[in-house]
Amino acid sequence: MSQYKIILDEREIPERWYNIVADMPNKPLPPLDPATREPIGPEALSAIFPDALIEQEVSEARWVDIPDEVRELYRRWRPTPLFRARALERALDTPAHIYYKYEGVSPAGSHKPNTAVPQAYYNKQAGIRRITTETGAGQWGSALSLACKWFDLECEVYMVRISFEQKPYRKLMMNTWGATVIPSPSDRTEAGRKILAAHPDSPGSLGIAISEAIECAATDPHTKYALGSVLNHVLLHQTIIGQEALLQMEKAGELPDVVIAPFGGGSNFAGLTFPFLRLNLTEGKRIRCIASESTSCPKLTRGVFRYDFGDGVGMTPLLPMYTLGHDFVPAKIHAGGLRYHGAGAIVSQLLRDRIIEAEDVDQLETFEAGVLFARTEGIIPAPEANHGIASVVRQAKQAKEAGDKRTILFNLSGHGHFDMAAYEAYFAGKLERHILGEEAIKAAVAQIDTPTIP
Ligand SMILES: *Cc1c(COP(=O)(O)O)cnc(C)c1O
Repeated sequence: MSQYKIILDEREIPERWYNIVADMPNKPLPPLDPATREPIGPEALSAIFPDALIEQEVSEARWVDIPDEVRELYRRWRPTPLFRARALERALDTPAHIYYKYEGVSPAGSHKPNTAVPQAYYNKQAGIRRITTETGAGQWGSALSLACKWFDLECEVYMVRISFEQKPYRKLMMNTWGATVIPSPSDRTEAGRKILAAHPDSPGSLGIAISEAIECAATDPHTKYALGSVLNHVLLHQTIIGQEALLQMEKAGELPDVVIAPFGGGSNFAGLTFPFLRLNLTEGKRIRCIASESTSCPKLTRGVFRYDFGDGVGMTPLLPMYTLGHDFVPAKIHAGGLRYHGAGAIVSQLLRDRIIEAEDVDQLETFEAGVLFARTEGIIPAPEANHGIASVVRQAKQAKEAGDKRTILFNLSGHGHFDMAAYEAYFAGKLERHILGEEAIKAAVAQIDTPTIP
């Protein structure tokens, strides 16, 4: 097989998203009301999400049809290409076959428009005028800004302050697509003012920005909120990635032994891996799926499985998740998209049941891998994606030592064209190894006041 690039025709864009909940041996635990600690019904979410998305959030149906208008917009950049990384394989002198799905070809430069477009679509259908959201590195904010523009919706983005300062071009992308961008914590909301009072120079966090965006949606009937990761409906939309990748791997004549993706809240990981996990859950295949997270924010590998808030201030329902505690503020690593304190409920349950695996990688190792990738394959990856690449390099080295021909597939979740300051720091020797200490983990986790889940 000499193929380097495996492409699909536009007509081959999958017609359905895959909902893994249908095939999970243990379904995710229900969200709880923080006051009563009783399971909440879907109606509790209706102040912030339109009904169609709430239905998807709680759905156990295996397949969900992709609306025609959404497929039509997907067509502008999908199907995305799948490459065999032959140059990287040669550089690593590995017998492993390495493939990657490239999501950086979307207009926003990452996988995030895969869910931004359907979320904007369902809000428009429900007669909503404005959507608020948070953004870390700016990837989600830019994706939603674009999707809102396509559906003629207003978009208001609370951007984690450290990223707002480090990544002016992401902010300008959002402005170009017509969105309003506000550094968070801000003095526009109760949540923001509360944080600023305690920490006037807080660098912000995704959790805090989420609180601000939710507050705006909850207090205005024409405004809803959108989240770029973690929630079930977001993971569902992202399965377009793996649905395509299945067809492409079939064309390449191989089935992966290992599927790897970087992990922030779990959306691109879920998007690529769930369609492959379906083969494990329903056809007895044994494909390893590995989430690659940051040693600065290691909720999967070193956090605890507990009910915790999805945001920084405690406005969301309690969600069952691997978490470091909702008020954990991670170090200012360059992979802003991986600085979220928790993991989605579905992915958390899958990890608990050992259906998926996780490992953590420190940022120095991720940039070594990312630069090797850029110098061999050509594409300059987003810092988040470098985590996945570092895990791939580990696998490729293991394959070499063991002399096995494992086939590895990973998600190149975005390009790094707006992250060159991070590369600059790396080349200048200013990126430091950062591994969260045992004491810091203990202190973070001790803040969680919900009981241990048996
Ligand atoms: C947001 C982002 C991530 C991490 O978020 P997930 O929801 O875990 O996918 C990873 N890579 C890129 C390029 C991102 O923009």
